Amino acid sequence: APRLITPEKRAEDVDASLRPQVLDDFVGQAAARANLKVFIEAARGRGEALDHVLFVGPPGLGKTTLAQIMARELGVNFRSTSGPVIAKAGDLAALLTNLEDRDVLFIDEIHRLSPAVEEILYPAMEDFQLDLIIGEGPAARSVKIDLAKFTLVAATTRLGLLTTPLRDRFGIPVRLNFYTVDELELIVRRGARLMGLPIDDAGALEIARRARGTPRIAGRLLRRVRDFADVAKSEKVTRQIADAALSRLDVDSLGLDQLDRRYLTMIANNFGGGPVGIETIAAGLFEPRDAIEDIIEPFLIQQGFIQRTPRGRVLTANAWKHLGLEAPRDLAQ
Ligand code: ADP
Repeated sequence: APRLITPEKRAEDVDASLRPQVLDDFVGQAAARANLKVFIEAARGRGEALDHVLFVGPPGLGKTTLAQIMARELGVNFRSTSGPVIAKAGDLAALLTNLEDRDVLFIDEIHRLSPAVEEILYPAMEDFQLDLIIGEGPAARSVKIDLAKFTLVAATTRLGLLTTPLRDRFGIPVRLNFYTVDELELIVRRGARLMGLPIDDAGALEIARRARGTPRIAGRLLRRVRDFADVAKSEKVTRQIADAALSRLDVDSLGLDQLDRRYLTMIANNFGGGPVGIETIAAGLFEPRDAIEDIIEPFLIQQGFIQRTPRGRVLTANAWKHLGLEAPRDLAQ
């Protein structure tokens, strides 16, 4: 069974060593960072728990990292779990009763909490109280337990997946956006420095351009490029080394991977460019709908390759061009 408390997000999440530890080392998301800084300072000044924070954004943009940084800057404990791991109300109750004043409890994928667990969370967030039913049948009675004044920091990939009552209980909603190439270049250079890997500007830029706007991907690509550079016995990562490694990994010039291209190609070849519904796309790709909506589509939309319309997804002229295919006449500009 998965552990309720996990120090890191995933066992294979080896990029822990590249995680920025303080807000000032966190690159990008300037607006979010500036706001958090103010709220953290204010809460510290008053010696109170920070309001509950909800991070919204695609995977790999730094939600977990920011939550850890917040706990560190607040000088409190960091406890971490995730929606699917909390099976029963009692699991959450156990977590909550172990918190100390002002602690940060991080719940990843909060949209995957079961309704029964959500019910426990409402009074905990609002009044710092647990309402538990003990026993069954006529002997059942309800007990209230006071909790420490903690801060819930939660993460979700899409705001629309949260129930309204849950959403309304977060005082500080923070949306994270895809990173610019410049920001990713800084992240790649910082990662290379921490790994002791020499890299020139053009090499860092090439990795940044192909990281799909996502720091986690930048870190993964950097690691694969390092392998490639090691085997090629090159002294440093240059643009050529990066390009050769990334092409071999099937990451194209804009950072699209195989699955992104399968998605676009299928809509082009099988559906004349759309509109086509999400269920049809999921069936055609043999991928779960959630993964398509959380991972594939946000970047393709941000890059202007697809549009979501009421009748389904439609390829843009850009997408046809990137695929090297001729767009239908009514789309061509
Ligand atoms: P999420 O929780 O949004 O899925 P994470 O916080 O786990 O994303 O971030 C994924 C990885 O990307 C982290 O291990 C961290 O090393 C790196 N990372 C994320 N954001 C940044 C950033 N702004 N600067 C540097 N590295 C970052």
